[in-house]
Amino acid sequence: MSTFNIPQRVNEPIKNYIKGSIERSEVEETYHSMFNSKIDIPLFIGNDKILTSKRQNISPPHEIKKIVGTFSLSEPDHIEKAIESCLNVKESWTNTPWEERAAIFLKAAELIAGPYRSKINAATMIGQSKNIFQAEIDAACEFIDFLKFNIIYMSEIYDEQPITVGKVSNKLEYRPLEGFVYAITPFNFTAIGGNLCASPALMGNTVLWKPSDHQVYSAKVIMDIFEEAGLPKGVINMVTGDPEMITKVALENSNLSGVHFTGSTFVFKKLWESIGKNINLYKDYPRIVGETGGKDFIISHPSADTDIVSTAIIRGGFEFQGQKCSAASRIYLPKSKSDEIIKKLQEQIKDIKMGSPIDFENFMTAVIHKKSFEKIVNYIKNAQNDKNVEIICGGNYDNSKGYFISPTLILTSDPNYTTMKEEIFGPVVTIYIYEDKMWKETLDLIDKTSQYALTGAVISSNQESIDFALKKLRYSAGNFYINDKPSGAVVGQQPFGGSRASGTNDKAGSKLNLLRWVSPRLIKENFNPPKDYPYPHMN
Ligand code: NAD
Repeated sequence: MSTFNIPQRVNEPIKNYIKGSIERSEVEETYHSMFNSKIDIPLFIGNDKILTSKRQNISPPHEIKKIVGTFSLSEPDHIEKAIESCLNVKESWTNTPWEERAAIFLKAAELIAGPYRSKINAATMIGQSKNIFQAEIDAACEFIDFLKFNIIYMSEIYDEQPITVGKVSNKLEYRPLEGFVYAITPFNFTAIGGNLCASPALMGNTVLWKPSDHQVYSAKVIMDIFEEAGLPKGVINMVTGDPEMITKVALENSNLSGVHFTGSTFVFKKLWESIGKNINLYKDYPRIVGETGGKDFIISHPSADTDIVSTAIIRGGFEFQGQKCSAASRIYLPKSKSDEIIKKLQEQIKDIKMGSPIDFENFMTAVIHKKSFEKIVNYIKNAQNDKNVEIICGGNYDNSKGYFISPTLILTSDPNYTTMKEEIFGPVVTIYIYEDKMWKETLDLIDKTSQYALTGAVISSNQESIDFALKKLRYSAGNFYINDKPSGAVVGQQPFGGSRASGTNDKAGSKLNLLRWVSPRLIKENFNPPKDYPYPHMN
C-alpha cells in the first residue's frame, strides 16, 4: 500500500501557435488529415462500439457542403443498454481505490497535453469552428485543468472528516451516488463535454453521456483518450441521437441519481420539470446540476479607459462568434465617453478577419448550425426594420459556404430592447448609452433587465464606483469581473457559474461541483461499547 501525490495546482500553459512553431505545423497537419478523411462515430456502450444503421452527417460549420463523418443515431433500446452498462460496472468502479481512479484521469490529462493535443484541437476546429486559440484554451488547456484540479478537489473532499474522540471513531465515507448520472452537454466547449462526464466518474459514479450533435466529432476523441488512459469500459457510456428520446428514457429510469447539464435555460427547465413529474419513480432524489444561459453585461464608468473598454467588448463579445455563455452581449456606455468608445469599436471591428479556422489570421469563424444562423439573422433583420434602433457596425451574413455572420453592433435608446434582454448566442452586441449622472440607476437597470445572472464586468478607474457596483450587482452575475472582459474563466482561478435563470451555480472547476456527486455515509465505531443501559444520574 502507498500514498498518492496529487497533481500540482498549476494551469496548463497555453501554446501560442506562432508561425514556424512545432505546435502550429502539428495542428495544421492533423487538421488537414482529419478534414480530408471520413470517420464513422459509434455509440460507446459498455464493451461495445455500436455503429447504427441510421446515421447523421457531420459537416464543419465553416464549410457546410463538406462531410467529415457520421455519427450513430441510437434507439431507445441502446439507451436502456447503456444504463444497464452503468449499473453493471457500478460496484467494481465504486470499489476501485480513489488513487487508481485519479491516476486514470491524470493519464487522460497527460494524453491531451501530449500526443492527443493536436487531434483534440483539430477536432474542435473542424466540428465546432473554433480558431486555434479558442480550441487550445478549451479542448486542451481547460480540459486538462478540469481533470487535474478535480483530482486535487477530490482529495480535499475525502480529507474533510469529523473528529474522532476517545473511544469513538467517526468517519465520512464519500460514497458515489447509488444509481447512474446522466450528463448532457452543449456544443460550445469540448472541455465541458469531457468534464461533465468525467467529474462524476472521478468521484466513483458511472455515467450516461449525451454530447451535443454539434460536438460529437471532438466527443469521439475524448472517448478515445479515456479508453487509452485505462478507464474501464462502461464507466462512461456515450450515446448520440434524438435528445428528447434519449432524455425521456434516462429520466424515466428509477436508478437516475443525478443530472449534469450544461446548455440552454429552456432545455434545463424542461429537464427539471420532467424530473419533478417522475419524482415518485426514483430511488433517490436526483441531484440536478445545470449551468445555463446568460445575458452578460459590461458597464463602463465615465472614468474608464477607452481602449480597455473597446478591447473587453470586442474580445468578450465576438470571440468564438459570441457563442460563449459568458459572452458580453449588452453594453452600458456613459454619454461623455460613448462617441469615443464607439468610434474605436468601429475602427477595430472593420479589421476583424473572418473565415475558416485553418487560416490562422482569422479572429472569427462561422456560427455553429443552420438553426442558430437563422435565429441570429432574425435578430439582425428585426433591428434593421426597427426605427428605434440602429445597426452601427456589421449586420451582414452569408451562408453560401458556411454560417458566417459579421460582428454586429446595435445601438438602442431602449434599455429593454429585445437584444438587451434575450440570449442571442451569436456575434451581436447591443449598446445602450446612459447619462453619466445616472450611474446608480443604470446599475439598477442592469440588475433588472434580464432573467439571467451569469457574468458581468465593470470597467472603471474609480474605486468607489467599483465598490458600489459590487454591492448593487450582488445577484446580477455569478462571475463578476473588474476591468476585464466577462468571459475566459480559468479552472482553479475563476470557478464558473451563475444563478437566477443561468443555473444552479454549482461552479464547474471547483470542489462545490464535485460535492454534488457524492452521498456521504457517516460511520461511527465504538471501540468500547456500554454494557448496561442506566445513566449515572439515575443512581
Ligand atoms: P442546448 O440547450 O440546445 O443543448 C444542450 C444539450 O441539451 C445538447 O446535448 C442537446 O442535444 C440537448 N437537448 C436539446 N434539446 C433537448 C431536449 N428537448 N431535451 C433534452 N435534451 C435536449 O444548448 P447548446 O446550443 O448546445 O449550447 C448553448 C447554450 O448553453 C447557451 O444557452 C449557453 O449559454 C449555454 N451554456 C452555458 C454554460 C454555463 O456554464 N452556464 C456553458 C456553456 C454553454
